[in-house]
Amino acid sequence: MIADAQRLREEREADHFHDECGVFGIHGHDEAAHITYLGLYALQHRGQESCGIVASNGREHIAHRAMGLVADTFGEKTLSRLKGRHSIGHVRYSTAGESLLRNAQPICANTDGGPVSIAHNGNLVNAVAIRRELEGRGAIFGSTSDSEVILHLLARSREQHMEDRFIDSISRVKGAFSLVMLSDDAMVGARDPSGFRPLILGRLDGAWVLASETCALDLIGATYERDLEPGEMVVIRRGRLRSLRPFVRQAPMHFCVFEYIYFARPDSNLMGHNVYAYRKVLGRALAREHPVAADMVVPVLDSGTAAALGYAEEEGIPYETALIRNHYVRRTFIEPAQSIRSFGVKVKHNPIRSFLEGKRVVLVDDSIIRGTTLVKIVAMLRTAGAREVHVRISAPPTVGPCHYGIDTPTKQELIAHEHTVEEIREIIGADSLGYLSLEGLRKTAASELKTGICDGCFSDEYPVPIDVDQDAPQLSLFRAMEDEPDPG
Ligand code: AMP
Repeated sequence: MIADAQRLREEREADHFHDECGVFGIHGHDEAAHITYLGLYALQHRGQESCGIVASNGREHIAHRAMGLVADTFGEKTLSRLKGRHSIGHVRYSTAGESLLRNAQPICANTDGGPVSIAHNGNLVNAVAIRRELEGRGAIFGSTSDSEVILHLLARSREQHMEDRFIDSISRVKGAFSLVMLSDDAMVGARDPSGFRPLILGRLDGAWVLASETCALDLIGATYERDLEPGEMVVIRRGRLRSLRPFVRQAPMHFCVFEYIYFARPDSNLMGHNVYAYRKVLGRALAREHPVAADMVVPVLDSGTAAALGYAEEEGIPYETALIRNHYVRRTFIEPAQSIRSFGVKVKHNPIRSFLEGKRVVLVDDSIIRGTTLVKIVAMLRTAGAREVHVRISAPPTVGPCHYGIDTPTKQELIAHEHTVEEIREIIGADSLGYLSLEGLRKTAASELKTGICDGCFSDEYPVPIDVDQDAPQLSLFRAMEDEPDPG
């Protein structure tokens, strides 16, 4: 009973605080909002549920936030109203329970120090406790997003200058945060001391740019300066950049390895390493650990592409995209109901029968979460005539949720938490199943990335402890109708 209550509480918190996000900011450019729009366009894969842009002319902040994709949300008319030489933006995806416009970012407030807007990527692990404390002192929260506590802490800080208030605020929160903040005269970027999520610094026509990934710099034609370091904060004001180390204690680096495995775009470089190249390395390592005699290596597009290429090269087996993907279907996880999710796989993939008939296939993907995708795809390949289907996964089994900003279901929904590898093989109907080992992953990270990683979802070892507040309040008791999707 107690375990059940505990699980329910954890699930409720998971519901409130699992966001996947991308952030962008530009300071000192005549077309700031337009550039931010393009930056977000390139970061769309990091969140497809809501998006927003705030522009500042140095006095006031103008915001536009909406549910939906960047391209559908911002037209010429909206962008032309977002006037000012400074701008930040955000794309977000969260669990279905909190698909609310009020949780869209950037979040903005008028403080006695002027307007402030914040865009946050990551999850805070002590947000519930801080929120309870602030609510106890009369604070009124407008959203259920953990990021709002940062704004409240900042607004309540007794420091005089905005950047000191910001330091005050981020010194109190724990967990993962890559933040971009806009005040009346400055743009601030900050990464948590463990550096879970990326944050990149670039330059465009003399302006400073902050972005979650380098693919955003590529699209706007900005030059890459460097990644912000874990625990670093940069303050950009009147064209000048200052770098600060505001945190009293520096933590060891724990960059999210799942950014490399799945989440980031393959054309991005994170911490100086290309994502696509590293995925190929993982595929090669996977082939060495789990070789198999086969006629072709087939990726699950697009997530398995680079690892499949690496596998094929290492094994000397031809690579074939014998499973075609419809690119106009939204990502599997976006659909709210299990029934639609399964249907989504069929809508999403279609095999090329003439290539598969009588063939032994190695099917490569980056991860198995609930197992929904592979159950369907393996059956699909068999129906299309494949003689053998050997599944290979370029990461270790996903045994735990992410507490630092990747959307994952609860433990009980993770197939690898509930089942052994052999059981999973049986469930998905494969002839064999091989995952890259945790040691294998750690070895490639040490030799290729040369940075400390967070592999909590694979190892169940979480570098920053999670505050599971025993009496977490039921958040968001009030729901506005205009927040909900229009049922038509
Ligand atoms: P599932 O069908 O639940 O086993 O999901 C596995 C598929 O989801 C794989 O193709 C992964 O590439 C993809 N995937 C892994 N993590 C995520 C995530 N956080 N959001 C969306 N898709 C994901």
